[in-house]
Amino acid sequence: MYDQVIDKNNPNSALKVTQGAENKRDVNENFLKIVKKAKELSVDDYVEGILSGNRTLLARAITLVESHLYKHQEMAQQVIEKCLKHAGNSIRLGITGVPGVGKSSVIEVLGKMLTSQGHKVAVLAIDPSSERSGGSILGDKTRMELLSCDENAFIRPSPSAGSLGGVARKTREIIILCEAAGFDVVIIETVGVGQSEVLAHSMVDFFLLLQLANAGDELQGIKRGIMEMADAIAINKAEGKEKERSELAASHYRNALHLFPPQESGWQPKVFTCSAYSKMGIDAIWQTILDYVALTKKNGFFYKNRNEQNLRILSETIQQTLLEKFYNSEVAKQKLDIAKDDILDNKVSAYIIAQKLIDEYFQSLEK
Ligand code: GDP
Repeated sequence: MYDQVIDKNNPNSALKVTQGAENKRDVNENFLKIVKKAKELSVDDYVEGILSGNRTLLARAITLVESHLYKHQEMAQQVIEKCLKHAGNSIRLGITGVPGVGKSSVIEVLGKMLTSQGHKVAVLAIDPSSERSGGSILGDKTRMELLSCDENAFIRPSPSAGSLGGVARKTREIIILCEAAGFDVVIIETVGVGQSEVLAHSMVDFFLLLQLANAGDELQGIKRGIMEMADAIAINKAEGKEKERSELAASHYRNALHLFPPQESGWQPKVFTCSAYSKMGIDAIWQTILDYVALTKKNGFFYKNRNEQNLRILSETIQQTLLEKFYNSEVAKQKLDIAKDDILDNKVSAYIIAQKLIDEYFQSLEK
């Protein structure tokens, strides 16, 4: 009876079953072709792309640098080597300061000012938290919204690479790629909480420390070592009611810096106040950087410093590679724990056992 009422072939019935149509792939075929082609990029494709300033290819080359796959690493090294002779023509600027001091805000204003003057600005980060937690202090918030939309700017978060040494190495390699892509100002941002600024300092020409006026006894919070590394200190958020207090803090810093021994660069570190909000003092920071570069190029320190930085990479890489090889060796695996116990039991001197293990390691290589 119901069959008569429910006629599935009746075009007006809600139960009518239409012929199935062929399901279209929900991914655009052209896109698939591009992805497939992109997968097959050669070293020369990457290099050409980078040299022509193609930001997409630059970003992909950086992904290669950051990759842990041996195949990618091998390719990345070839790309870097070919880019090397096109690199070096930038001002490398380090910016550090505690979280919240206004690093990204200052970089945004400085970066926009520079791109409007025709510069190309790359912003890289060294984030010590990526070492421990895989998370990040620098990358959690939406940062530099205007600059990230600027086609003459390139912003890249910190590589997460196991150890801070690994992050440093990758950052140095990324600097080379950015310079080859025509970025003439490379900013390395880092959080002022430890080893990361020492690393950042070891790869830049100019080091800027951002501070706040409201820290009470301002000078206590920062380690002397960081102040000694700074070529300039800027007291940020120095607008409105904070202006006077910031000026006072600046004069404290000026006095403190005078007590430090003169820098090898022949440069006397400068202290400013600035405000990312009111855009005050940002142009003065840039002018100071230009003055510094002019002075140190004239007296040769600029080149000497870069050479020393490169030579340091050589010795650091040798040390690191030797250490890794030793600790991964059979000698270390079999004898290190016993040696540690013997040292703790006062059976043997640490110096003697260290020498013995190293001798045994080198002997094992000869076999
Ligand atoms: P970062 O953690 O050092 O990168 O600091 P951010 O740039 O994220 O800034 C931290 C907070 O300080 C944000 O809420 C900013 O809006 C604010 N800030 C940054 N620069 C200034 C400034 O010049 N004046 C004032 N009043 N606030 C600022």
